[in-house]
Amino acid sequence: MMKKNYTLYTLLLSVTFLASVTVKSGWHFELMLYLIVVYSAVFIFIFERYRPHRKNWNVKKADWKNELLHLIISTALFDGLGKACALFLVIQLQSQFFQVSDFWLAFPLLFVVVIAAVVAEFLPYWFHRISHQAKSGSPTSLFLWHVHAIHHLPSTMNWFKTNWNHPLGIFINAILKSGPLLLFGFPPAAIFLVWVIHVTMAYVSHSNIESKSSWLDYVVITPQLHRFHHSKKLIEAQNYGISITFWDWVFGTYYNQNRTVEQVGRIQKNHEYPNQNSYWGQIRFPFTKLYQPCCCKSVNK
Ligand SMILES: [Zn+2]
Ligand SMILES: [Zn+2]
Repeated sequence: MMKKNYTLYTLLLSVTFLASVTVKSGWHFELMLYLIVVYSAVFIFIFERYRPHRKNWNVKKADWKNELLHLIISTALFDGLGKACALFLVIQLQSQFFQVSDFWLAFPLLFVVVIAAVVAEFLPYWFHRISHQAKSGSPTSLFLWHVHAIHHLPSTMNWFKTNWNHPLGIFINAILKSGPLLLFGFPPAAIFLVWVIHVTMAYVSHSNIESKSSWLDYVVITPQLHRFHHSKKLIEAQNYGISITFWDWVFGTYYNQNRTVEQVGRIQKNHEYPNQNSYWGQIRFPFTKLYQPCCCKSVNK
C-alpha cells in the first residue's frame, strides 16, 4: 500500500511553484536558482533536525570542517566553473558551426522541459555508471572510480553528503549536463527549469528526511532510491540517475525494494578508498593511485 510522503511533496511542490513564478515573471534565472538552493537547504535542515529518517545520520561536530570544504570548494566553485566552461565552449561552437533555431518554441514549455531533462541526464548517467565499473587492469576505469570513490565514503546520508564529490567529477559532470542543453538550443527557461530539477533532486536524494516508497520513486531519484545507490551491498548500489529515473529504466539499472536500506557507505569492504578524514587526501587520491592500477580490485563482479 502506498504510504504518504508529506515532507517530500511539500518541498517539491513549493520548489515547483517558485520555479514557475520565476519563469512567468521573468525573474533572473541564475539568482533564483541560488535562492531555490538556499530555500530547499533550509527546508531540508529543519526536517532533518526535527523529523529525520535516522537520527544518527545528521552531521556530527567532528565532521564540520570536511563538510564545509566539500560544499565550498568541490561543489560551489567547480560546478560553477563547469557550467561556465560548457557555456563558453557551446557558444564558440554555435557561432562557428551551428544556427541557433527556435524549434523548441513551437512546443509547450512543460513538454520541452521533460525532453531537456531526459537529454541532460544521458551523459551524466553514463559517466556515473562507467565510474562505478573500476575494471582492474584499466587505468582509465580505475581513475574514474578513484575520482568517484569520495562520494561513497560516508556511512551516513544528509544534505551535506551531496557535496562529497571530487572537484574533477563535479567539473566534468557540469559540462556533460549543460553542454547538450546548450548545443541542442533549448530555450533559457527550459535550461533554468532543468537546473532547478537537477540541483533540487541532487540535494533531496541525499537528505536525511523521512521518505517512504511512493509513485515518485518511479519518476525521480528520491531519497528512498538514492539510499540504495549508497548501499554497502553491491547488488543494491544501482540507480545511476542524478535527478530522474528515465535512463535507469531504459538501461536496466533501476533498483528499488519496499524497505529501507540497511547500511550506506563503502560498497565493498576490500576495495580501496581515500582517507575519510582528510579532504585534501581525498582530492589527491585519484592522482596517487593512477599509476598503481594493479592495487585495486574491480568493484563489479
Ligand atoms: Zn555512485
Ligand atoms: Zn549520492
